[in-house]
Amino acid sequence: MVSILWFRNDLRLTDNPALAHAAGHGGALLPVYILDPAAAGAWPMGAASRWWLHHSLKALDDGLRAAGCGLLVLEGDTEALLADLVQRFAAGGLYWNRRYEPASIELDKRVRQRFNEDGLDVASFNAALLNEPWQALKGDGTPYKVFTPYWKACLKAAPPAPPRPAPERLPPLPGGVNPAGLEACGLLPQIPWDAGFYAQWAPGEAGALQRLSAFAAGPAAAYEAARDWPAEAGTSRLSPHLRFGELSPRQVVAALQPQDPDATGPYLRQLYWREFAHQLLFHFPHTTDRPLNPKFEGFPWRSHYAADLQRWQQGRTGIPIVDAGMRELWATGWMHNRVRMIVASFLTKHLLIPWQAGAHWFWDTLLDADLANNSMGWQWVAGSGADAAPYFRIFNPVTQSTRFDPQGRYLRAWVPELRALPADRIHQPWKGGAHPPGGYPNPVIGLKEGRALALDAYQAIR
Ligand SMILES: Cc1cc2nc3c(=O)[nH]c(=O)nc-3n(C[C@H](O)[C@H](O)[C@H](O)COP(=O)(O)OP(=O)(O)OC[C@H]3O[C@@H](n4cnc5c(N)ncnc54)[C@H](O)[C@@H]3O)c2cc1C
Repeated sequence: MVSILWFRNDLRLTDNPALAHAAGHGGALLPVYILDPAAAGAWPMGAASRWWLHHSLKALDDGLRAAGCGLLVLEGDTEALLADLVQRFAAGGLYWNRRYEPASIELDKRVRQRFNEDGLDVASFNAALLNEPWQALKGDGTPYKVFTPYWKACLKAAPPAPPRPAPERLPPLPGGVNPAGLEACGLLPQIPWDAGFYAQWAPGEAGALQRLSAFAAGPAAAYEAARDWPAEAGTSRLSPHLRFGELSPRQVVAALQPQDPDATGPYLRQLYWREFAHQLLFHFPHTTDRPLNPKFEGFPWRSHYAADLQRWQQGRTGIPIVDAGMRELWATGWMHNRVRMIVASFLTKHLLIPWQAGAHWFWDTLLDADLANNSMGWQWVAGSGADAAPYFRIFNPVTQSTRFDPQGRYLRAWVPELRALPADRIHQPWKGGAHPPGGYPNPVIGLKEGRALALDAYQAIR
């Protein structure tokens, strides 16, 4: 019997329940990845994610081949392509790991129903989360909208099972199948704006495991003290690996729990923010595009903002910490969490540009672009989301920059025009009426003026 293993956000061999299940049937194994942008609804993968996907699928294929199998990569309508494979190979089973984006849930339902009706053995598994989004609910059966009680409820549940090792050998591909198809998908960009990614990242399971063990052996111990400093390598940078499932959260817990036995420490807590985001998206699927807090439906965002949005995207707002973050994002496909909060706050508050515009830019440029984390992050900063900071608490980017990058090391790394400025000037090069050096722009808006406009706008929905 041929078992089809439908790969999705689970591009790994280790701790992969659908893989273990499909391989356990004994007959031939047909692992397939289907690129189907139409099935992603309004959120087809952005350009940076496609770059990562290309390299991750290549690594997955290598890993599967080394275990005696291989990967077929197809592009098109998922249901039609799966139906074709089922028929061509007279498959007896179809297995996959679940996704939690609204469009993916709909696709899962259709696939399950169709192939169940066709008499296939169909099963899906959880490979992405420590808890299913429907597991930790309030006493009245409704979902949590505040993080801390959600997290405490999760900690009371049974601890995550230990991760299972990668199989050394896998059943072979069915006769006549060539593992191929990746190059035809054209996932890599035509213009080489991805040049800076190669030095920073190693997509694929081996790169993920290497990064996890380096983090566990080093920076993890000082995570709490270092995690807010963008010039330090104080965070794990595991986010794209987790996003593509090259690593399971259970593997992360297993690697870090010896340092944090009750999982209440600062690092594992961040993993529960990821869980929280997924449960929010599951229960409130409209929050990818609309505010969780309905009061914000009537928020008076600006409607003509294209020029300011472009200055923000290009890192030319004239506010050094904002520009440093946006340039880091463009050059590396990643941005430090503290700086993500600062740039998002500046866009939605000082510039009064709707959070959805920022979320779409992040979606296209982040290598870790994740619908759950991105929607929650943007709504949290904009004040319309779960557990959000009150709208009137507005980050001052200069104060943030002075506090978290006092010597200006992060600013100098990403805004070369300002490199020569001393630490007491680099955070606000316009101070005292000075002209910023080297063609660096004046601020797109005065910080006091922006803050006042934001507070006025907020009055409209109070
Ligand atoms: C506006 C905004 C947009 C964001 N968009 C994304 C996104 O598209 N994808 C994404 O993975 N994260 C997003 N985040 C969350 C966070 O910034 C990143 O997860 C983090 O910076 C990744 O770096 P790291 O792996 O070094 O994190 P670490 O500090 O090492 O954290 C470990 C892991 O925990 C998870 N995590 C950490 N912080 C958060 C958080 N605040 N919310 C949810 N999960 C978290 C991530 O999976 C991360 O890899 C966003 C945050 C903001 C403010």
